[in-house]
Amino acid sequence: MIGRMTHPTTARGGPAAPGHSASAPPLPVDAEALVALDAEIVACRACPRLVAWREEVARTRVARFATETYWGRPIPGFGAADARILVLGLAPAAHGGNRTGRVFTGDRSGDVLYAALHRAGLARIATSRSADDGQALAGCRVTAAVRCAPPGNRPTPAERDACAPYLVREIAALRDLRVVVALGAFAWNAALRAFAALGSPSRPRPRFGHGAEASVGPATLLGCYHPSQQNTFTGRLTPMMVDDVLERATALAAWDDAGRPDPRSAGASQPRRQQ
Ligand code: SF4
Repeated sequence: MIGRMTHPTTARGGPAAPGHSASAPPLPVDAEALVALDAEIVACRACPRLVAWREEVARTRVARFATETYWGRPIPGFGAADARILVLGLAPAAHGGNRTGRVFTGDRSGDVLYAALHRAGLARIATSRSADDGQALAGCRVTAAVRCAPPGNRPTPAERDACAPYLVREIAALRDLRVVVALGAFAWNAALRAFAALGSPSRPRPRFGHGAEASVGPATLLGCYHPSQQNTFTGRLTPMMVDDVLERATALAAWDDAGRPDPRSAGASQPRRQQ
């Protein structure tokens, strides 16, 4: 069963950034751009293999979700246009985002991520189970480099490149963006390519590592191991390690508000630790 559920919509009919509803006042220009982008993403069918896979998964489902209606479409970002922190993953999970219609929602990776976002004061609740669970982000947006669930969590280079312009436009719409937290090397490289497309190439190309930092145009890129089951079950990534990265992200995001110098001119762009 595919996508019969209704994605949260605005008065204009597109998927809404959290906090906006049909009765909300007119959106600022950048928020409108984000809403339009999200609507475009949700309707995208550019990658035949991924379209077939996301819909096949939604039809066949798994036993534990056999009674549910899967979203079965691309997944837009989640969070408002005034976000200063963008958390960037690889792609939706087949039975997570592809089922619930919200990025990092309904799977173990999302459990780890949203619990950490809640501890950091960026998420209203510590869980992310469904698109109507009351979750909301403050000053933060969560998104993925590829918007459709790929077989084996591995998009092809052509699929990666086909989806890349969406991330470029998403970053461009986030005018207050200060920090991008890249969950894994795939997201790290996607962020670097997006900022290069926006006129801020990184040379030499900074290497991904947990806790790595790089200056990318007007923002700082932070590396964090992906909260996949493989990483969290083996202890390669612990909740405390995610907390450390988000603590750094929130500090960087708030830095100029405190009247201190731009952190990137104070050596903060150097890697703090590489593992
Ligand atoms: Fe469209 Fe991206 Fe999905 Fe490809 S992966 S079909 S470009 S939304």
